[in-house]
Amino acid sequence: MNTTIGVIGLGLMGSAMARRLTEAGQSALGYNRSPRDIEGVEVTSSLAELAQRAEILWLMVSDFQACRDVIEQLGEAGIRDHVLINSSTISPEQSSELGRRIESFGGEYLESPVLGSIPQAQSGTLQLLLGGSEDLIARLDDTLKALGTPTHFGEIRSGAAAKLAYNQLIGSLTAAFSMSLGLVQREGVDVDKFMATLRESALYAPTFDKKLDNMVGHSFEKANFPLKHLLKDIRLFTQSACGCDIDTHLLIGLQHVLEEGVYAGHGNHDYSSLFESIVHEDTTRH
Ligand code: NAP
Repeated sequence: MNTTIGVIGLGLMGSAMARRLTEAGQSALGYNRSPRDIEGVEVTSSLAELAQRAEILWLMVSDFQACRDVIEQLGEAGIRDHVLINSSTISPEQSSELGRRIESFGGEYLESPVLGSIPQAQSGTLQLLLGGSEDLIARLDDTLKALGTPTHFGEIRSGAAAKLAYNQLIGSLTAAFSMSLGLVQREGVDVDKFMATLRESALYAPTFDKKLDNMVGHSFEKANFPLKHLLKDIRLFTQSACGCDIDTHLLIGLQHVLEEGVYAGHGNHDYSSLFESIVHEDTTRH
């Protein structure tokens, strides 16, 4: 398909995706609810104009409510004969509801949550977790590959389910590492030696090193993936897993520390700031 792609939602990820699509030679047009300029990308302040000029509408907004708002604003006039790709992280249930609404307006729906963050969006190396029809995916091949590596998981719901499963790992691994790092620091164990041994063991995950400097330096302001979105995703995972008879007691504590982080003002900070809710500043040192 050689068509115009309307990117809806020019936040942290949407702006990087719109820029990448343009750099990859795709025709991209951006729209954001509150006026926003993106260097190197044409932006319109009218959703109706975006729908008139673009055949593919690519959603990258905060959550399900935001997706719904956009779909209702576009209405049948903006959706009929369009393809809508959604990369916002929502639950399988929400995704299938979105798909039904889009189809009722005469549009086609592809679920494409993404694994990876701003650097991967900028370099076109996102993992696209697709749910939807094979025929549609084949037609969108060039567009999808401009942003990264597509994997077709199956019907609508399957991409959304895979995404929540990955994000549960982001939250749980980061929380588990925070607790261990906290104990090591408080007991005066050499962090470099602890990390060197960890890296050689089967317990190691690369995300530990990715977030180590943030945690040691208490530096979380530069966010690729904000804490508030991780909280949303852990809540969505919990709801979805409960519906599948999976015990989610372990996630109660994780939700609690994420909520504490949001209340403490870390909502727009990097998700690794959950370290601050786990390793309290005033803990008695040995
Ligand atoms: P973000 O920076 O917070 O941007 C959110 C975007 O949603 C903004 O453009 C915002 O517009 C728009 N929005 C919010 N409510 C809206 C509404 N009711 N109607 C229309 N637009 C609305 O978020 P992000 O980090 O780009 O993430 C976007 C989505 O991708 C989230 O679902 C997130 O979980 C997921 N995700 C993020 C990452 C990451 O690394 N950041 C990676 C993978 C997936 P305004 O500017 O007008 O508020």
